[in-house]
Amino acid sequence: MMRVRFWGVRGSIAAAGHPTAGVGGNTSCVEVRCGTAGDETLLIFDAGTGLRLLGESLAGPVTAHLFLSHLHWDHIQGFPFFGPAYVPGNRVGLYAPERCAPGGDVRAAFAAQMRAPHFPVGLDVMRAELAFEAVAAGGELEIGGARVRAAAAKHPNGCLAYRVDYAGRSVVYATDTEHDAAGGLDADLLELARGADVLIYDAQYTSAEYAARRGWGHSTAAEGARLASAAGVSQLVLFHHDPTHDDWQIARIEAETRGLFPSTTAAREGLTLTLEARARRSAA
Ligand SMILES: [Zn+2]
Ligand SMILES: [Zn+2]
Repeated sequence: MMRVRFWGVRGSIAAAGHPTAGVGGNTSCVEVRCGTAGDETLLIFDAGTGLRLLGESLAGPVTAHLFLSHLHWDHIQGFPFFGPAYVPGNRVGLYAPERCAPGGDVRAAFAAQMRAPHFPVGLDVMRAELAFEAVAAGGELEIGGARVRAAAAKHPNGCLAYRVDYAGRSVVYATDTEHDAAGGLDADLLELARGADVLIYDAQYTSAEYAARRGWGHSTAAEGARLASAAGVSQLVLFHHDPTHDDWQIARIEAETRGLFPSTTAAREGLTLTLEARARRSAA
């Protein structure tokens, strides 16, 4: 079984406040559990502000594998507030694109965020066992029976999209990526997403907004629908919502996108998708 839970769904900057309270204002963080209760592998995609709440939800000895798509602020700001990283005995694997880490040094990239004058304590205050690993586009890892593959996303300073396959099920995490404005489909993402059960996709802009944001490294819900159709995925999840989009706007984007790809859901905090060992799927 795979279980996907959304802890942060916002892009660029956290957007707390009444207009965004339904969808949630925390930045990118998605939990993916593979296995059955008591024997699960915990994968986390991105360390946006949603990671703080995910950390608070974890009890007992924690073993987690945290994959970063890239190191822009909205994907790392939750890391210094990830409580389990401060607890001796816990184990946290930290994976980041080698292109984003100077000299491929992932530890240095994490330490930089917690260095004065940006943060009061350093990375060495985290007492969990931390392991750092650089990931390249095309890279592949096996973790607890789950297969994680990485592909290049199109984003300033570099970014990786990830696919997790476990027990015949698959989830693709493809945020912070810009589509081909000339109309072609991204061959790397198309290949990564082929036949996936769930495609989580960067839907930051409306098509109208995109015209003024070309080159900023983000995409649209309509492009997500196009990619989902071409790749034959079962469910499209719109993700990395723009901080200016309120609940009403995101509901409208979701409804419009269902006209293009019926099995579309706008990610919101707390959304949980369960992929059973057989083909059943449920959303709560
Ligand atoms: Zn982002
Ligand atoms: Zn970014």
